[in-house]
Amino acid sequence: MKTLFEKIIAREIPAQIVFEDDLVLAIRDINPQAPVHVLLFPKQVIPRIAEAGPEDHKLLGHLLLKVAEVADKVGLKKSGYRLVINNGADGGETVPHLHCHILGGRHLAWPPG
Ligand code: 5GP
Repeated sequence: MKTLFEKIIAREIPAQIVFEDDLVLAIRDINPQAPVHVLLFPKQVIPRIAEAGPEDHKLLGHLLLKVAEVADKVGLKKSGYRLVINNGADGGETVPHLHCHILGGRHLAWPPG
């Protein structure tokens, strides 16, 4: 069964696309937790970071490098932003397809709730 993000990659579910290349897609979160809330994920499904393996190191490196590029594209380079990856139940993961949350546009408290 396809994950929600695979359906978005396949354009079966609409999304506001911010960035796309052959390996990753970035979209606006449907329920933003900050003025800017972008999700960036690999097109290849890794359910969560705990399940990534050595074979994924190139893809994960690409993903992290694209975080900075996408954050710049949505105007967060100067003000800063937070990068979040939720893993498992206590982490608040709801979509089992590894994704980075890029949050910004306001000051974000620390520690998170
Ligand atoms: P997680 O909770 O797994 O870390 O993050 C999943 C994120 O996907 C949530 O922030 C949620 O708001 C977002 N989301 C859920 N359904 C959709 C959707 O249909 N479209 C978009 N753009 N985001 C979604």
